[in-house]
Amino acid sequence: MEEQEASFVIIGGGIAGVSCAEGLQCLCPEEKTILLTASPVVKRVTNVVPLTKMLAKFDVEEITPDSVEQESLIVIQDPVASINSSNHTVTSISGRIFRYKKLCVCTGGVPRLISTNEHVIGIRDTESVASFQKRVANSQRIVVVGNGGIATEIVYELTGVEIVWVIKDNHISAPFIDPGAAEFFQDSLKQGKLKTEDKKPIKRKVYTVSGAETVSGGAALGPDWHTNYNLHGKSSFKSKVNVEYNCEVSAVLNPEEVDESCKIVDEKWPVYVKLTNGRTYGCDLIVSATGVVPNSDIVFTDGKQFDLAEDKGIRVNEQMETNVMDIFAAGDVCTPVWELAPHWFQMRLWTQAHQMGSYVAKTMHASLINQPVLQDFCFELFTHVTNFFGYNVVILGLFNAQKLGQNYSCLLRVTPGVEYLKIVMKEGRMQGAVLIGDTDLEEMCENLILNQLDLTNLENDLLNPDIDMDDYFD
Ligand code: FAD
Repeated sequence: MEEQEASFVIIGGGIAGVSCAEGLQCLCPEEKTILLTASPVVKRVTNVVPLTKMLAKFDVEEITPDSVEQESLIVIQDPVASINSSNHTVTSISGRIFRYKKLCVCTGGVPRLISTNEHVIGIRDTESVASFQKRVANSQRIVVVGNGGIATEIVYELTGVEIVWVIKDNHISAPFIDPGAAEFFQDSLKQGKLKTEDKKPIKRKVYTVSGAETVSGGAALGPDWHTNYNLHGKSSFKSKVNVEYNCEVSAVLNPEEVDESCKIVDEKWPVYVKLTNGRTYGCDLIVSATGVVPNSDIVFTDGKQFDLAEDKGIRVNEQMETNVMDIFAAGDVCTPVWELAPHWFQMRLWTQAHQMGSYVAKTMHASLINQPVLQDFCFELFTHVTNFFGYNVVILGLFNAQKLGQNYSCLLRVTPGVEYLKIVMKEGRMQGAVLIGDTDLEEMCENLILNQLDLTNLENDLLNPDIDMDDYFD
């Protein structure tokens, strides 16, 4: 059987795996690295634009594996079937064996589907979006289930189709924003969203490898994934969104399973969703955007297994090491179990996949040469930049008062249609911020969260538009 050897073997060609490979190339280009991936395209972070010390915007490029390759970095499209940690080997589906000194698992996550019904679709990779696009074109009504970033983007992007948005919270986009910010976005929903030509230009360019085959098991999509796809339904109207708050899907039913207990039946639909609030909707398609489950089902042939966290992520310590000797993990597949910094927590986002991938390269290299490494500063503060309903959104620290219990207050500044600013304070110190619109306050907020300056006497002025606080702290 063919056998290859490398100092480092990485499993997974998503943002985490590729960032790790690139990091290793910078740190020790003399050491051979092999990256094994299941998909014919890999993802790379590019055009990094720092907004502050810790906050950066970047593009995500989908590229062919050979564009990442360097003299001592080989990328092989051959999914991994099993690991033998005693022999330090990995065996691929095609039967090839790869011997490693240090191994990193970056296998991402798989969509958590609410049902296996054929009309339920999860969006994860290029293939699932392509299939989604085809099905949208033939749809009059779509039910979107979930309240995270992906669901929010889908609801925003879909046109020409009636949408029923099922969310378990009492306001939209709850993982990222609070009820006030949700209210700020309501106008975008009520007005049938902005027309394509009204939208602000998309500042992040998305590159796609033309003609690249799509296969399942590919890397998760990155930001602006929807800009390459026309998500237009059968109808001529812009959009109609009906949000069903505080409920979940209790059943997905085929037409023959619908009875009088389901208080509907307007006309025949291919599939129905029964909600916990008693309503039932017929629709053409159900989008299950209820998050991902870490892809941690990795087979060991030497009886070992990974310690998994409750969310099925592979537990990693502050060096990104798993419980199995010489095996590290990074990105969506892992769950950090170190003592987290007060203003950081895990959210399975591309920012963290990139940060973890770059950092694990350092810890793998340090482990190879037996040197200590200090944890990266990026794990001091949660940061995320995104775009909801055409607005720039920057979120920092404990933006939804995570970890703070009841003991906090919020400062707000809202200009409808322009900006929404929320600052979370505890005992006179800034804990987190949500900045929607072009606010230019990200640097000030980042500094104040990190340095925990006592702002008791300044709280009233912090968001006063007539006072240049940024200048004040300079
Ligand atoms: P992935 O990107 O999932 O990569 C996993 C890799 O492992 C793939 O290359 C896969 O082929 C490979 N693999 C799996 N099993 C094997 C195996 N057995 N052998 C070899 N290779 C294997 N985040 C944001 O921050 N902003 C956004 O706007 C945003 N939008 C999103 C939109 C959608 C529709 C989705 C699904 C996700 C979005 N995310 C967003 C989340 C973000 O995409 C993920 O957090 C991030 O891509 C995770 O990167 P990763 O490298 O850990 O995993």
